[in-house]
Amino acid sequence: MKFIDEYRDAEAAQHYAHAIAQITTRPWSIMEICGGQTHAIVKFGIDELLPHSLTLVHGPGCPVCVTPVELIDKAIEIALRPEVIFTSFGDMLRVPGTHTDLLSVKANGGDVRMVYSPLDAVKLAQANPAREVVFFAVGFETTAPANAMAVYQAHQRGLPNFSVLVSHVLVPPAMEALLSSPENRVQGFLAAGHVCTVMGYTEYYPLAAKYQVPIVVTGFEPLDILQGVYMCVKQLEEGRAEVENQYTRSVRREGNQPAQQLIREVFQIVPRKWRGLGEIPHSGLGLRDPYAEFDAEQRFGLAEQHVEESSECISGLVLQGIKKPHDCPAFGVRCTPERPLGAPMVSSEGACAAYYRYRRVTLA
Ligand code: SF4
Repeated sequence: MKFIDEYRDAEAAQHYAHAIAQITTRPWSIMEICGGQTHAIVKFGIDELLPHSLTLVHGPGCPVCVTPVELIDKAIEIALRPEVIFTSFGDMLRVPGTHTDLLSVKANGGDVRMVYSPLDAVKLAQANPAREVVFFAVGFETTAPANAMAVYQAHQRGLPNFSVLVSHVLVPPAMEALLSSPENRVQGFLAAGHVCTVMGYTEYYPLAAKYQVPIVVTGFEPLDILQGVYMCVKQLEEGRAEVENQYTRSVRREGNQPAQQLIREVFQIVPRKWRGLGEIPHSGLGLRDPYAEFDAEQRFGLAEQHVEESSECISGLVLQGIKKPHDCPAFGVRCTPERPLGAPMVSSEGACAAYYRYRRVTLA
């Protein structure tokens, strides 16, 4: 555990916190855009080390949390079919749809299986030619290459019984939607290191210039985050709005180009609805025409539907950084990890789950 320990060194963390306090002269709000960073901030109490004038705002960086209810309902509709083996990462199984969730479908006899890779779903399709195998392809740019590879392999092998239910989302358009909102209070961003490992960070230059906002590509360990905050505050205090890279041990300016090429081969940019944020133009990935036969929505003839999100769940405000999880009246009372009302309480990357797990407030 040598290398993780080094990035969690308490003395070095105090040193960074002191350095941040030294350069902070005004209140600033900085948003981390990755659920992994949110969990590290809450778990290690990083925000509590910072000056009171510095606010860390949690952004829409949890892929499970931003998957719209309609898609969960479609997944459930597909999973209920007797000919289907429905496969998904574990986090998605407990996300509530309008009436139920995938885990309940499984409990009631549906063939819903958790997989660790979309390529496992491809293998399942090969091993079960009489069944339809569907993979729930959600996530940011990070998971897109593996999902693209699954579709590409299915295409190469001519697998007629494999398909994907796609709900891929892209980070930069969501950042632009937040920045252009009249309610925006974010002055600087910690960009998600794992997304940038795939995509690089050149696509953030226009955002930094247009909205005059510093963007620092940042890793996930406590010292990464503190260094990212330091770099962001330094820019804000100096009146700069640049794209900088804290996570140099993983991220290169141009990213992983073979992975990007694979994404471009299989997917195209489409509008996408985000849970709590609504539809954002150019913010998602959908299958390109040569791969359209692997689109589960088309294969099963699913109709478009509009579903109202739970009126009690304020996840839209939490995902925009306007409210904190404990501002939600249901937090820890009617909404817990065992009985979640919204996706941010389910996912291992959700802000509500992080607050519940690490900072449970005492409730009357
Ligand atoms: S605590 Fe539960 S109900 Fe409230 S915003 Fe979070 S997920 Fe939604």
